Amino acid sequence: TAKAEGRGAYRFFTPALNEQMHQQFQLEQDLRHALEREQLSLHYQPRVDMRNGRILSLEALVRWNHPRHGWIPPGRFIPVAEATGLILQIGPLVLRQAGQQLARWRDAGLDPVPVAVNLSANELYQDALVERIDDIIKQQDIPPRLLEFEITESATMRSIDCAVDILTALRARGFSIALDDFGTGYASLNYLNRLPVNAIKIDRSFLADLGATETARHEQAAAIVKAITGLGNSLGLEGIAEGVENALQRDFLLAHGCHIAQGYLYSRPQPATAIEPLLRAGRIMLPTEAMRET
Ligand code: C2E
Ligand code: MG
Ligand code: MG
Ligand code: MG
Repeated sequence: TAKAEGRGAYRFFTPALNEQMHQQFQLEQDLRHALEREQLSLHYQPRVDMRNGRILSLEALVRWNHPRHGWIPPGRFIPVAEATGLILQIGPLVLRQAGQQLARWRDAGLDPVPVAVNLSANELYQDALVERIDDIIKQQDIPPRLLEFEITESATMRSIDCAVDILTALRARGFSIALDDFGTGYASLNYLNRLPVNAIKIDRSFLADLGATETARHEQAAAIVKAITGLGNSLGLEGIAEGVENALQRDFLLAHGCHIAQGYLYSRPQPATAIEPLLRAGRIMLPTEAMRET
């Protein structure tokens, strides 16, 4: 085995891997600096009732404007933050910024809608999570009904009993919870029944396959979207479709009983200043719908 290990160790330090490790390390260092200088900010994406265009809530999505590399998507730096523990600094920053934004909209006289914040697995199981959330809403004087949390199905699976306890504590304070990326994890129906969530978000990958030219792919995605929608409706959970990009997807969802959508068809995630006029209008009308009304 010594020989095998030796070979393994050699393989570990191939130039390609070394380069990849170096890049990860650099990203981690840059992220530390970005956190110190608060170079992370939030964009917001509306969730819309497709039957009338009303904006029901917003999802806060973290953005990193890197001084040299420009915008780095969360899909690249959140995993690094999770692996290095930096997520425990990003989480509070996101919560604080979302709270401040809600307070600003309130002070500007806007009718506020709830803002949903993503919690990753390591944040969810962090000891002081609930106290930290309490502190922030007290500081900003935000009613709990205006704050929602999104956790992925797979994060809850890491330790289902713990997850149930934490989510129960959050629900008791009046926060709403959505299960994110639903359908991609392995939650059994029994688990879903135990988790005190208000909503399930149908993962974008299923929406993306609706209308695929390969009919088998379309059929499968259609079956999954229908099943998740039916499941949500029969358990009394709100169903939110994520990644709605076109009218075909919208019509399919409406025909099968899912009427809440978040996606580029309605709005991309945008900075608060760009969201404000949408909040003032209260709804987002698609060009075709606006024409139908006049
Ligand atoms: P998520 O929570 O599932 O967020 C939805 C993602 O789908 C966002 O990507 C959003 O921009 C994207 N999206 C929405 N509508 C469409 C559409 O119509 N088409 C396409 N192609 N994409 C759409 P984003 O902002 O890049 O975030 C990726 C993931 O990073 C999030 O997935 C979430 O898991 C994580 N993330 C983002 N912000 C935070 C944060 O503040 N904290 C934590 N812990 N994770 C975050
Ligand atoms: Mg989310
Ligand atoms: Mg999602
Ligand atoms: Mg997703």
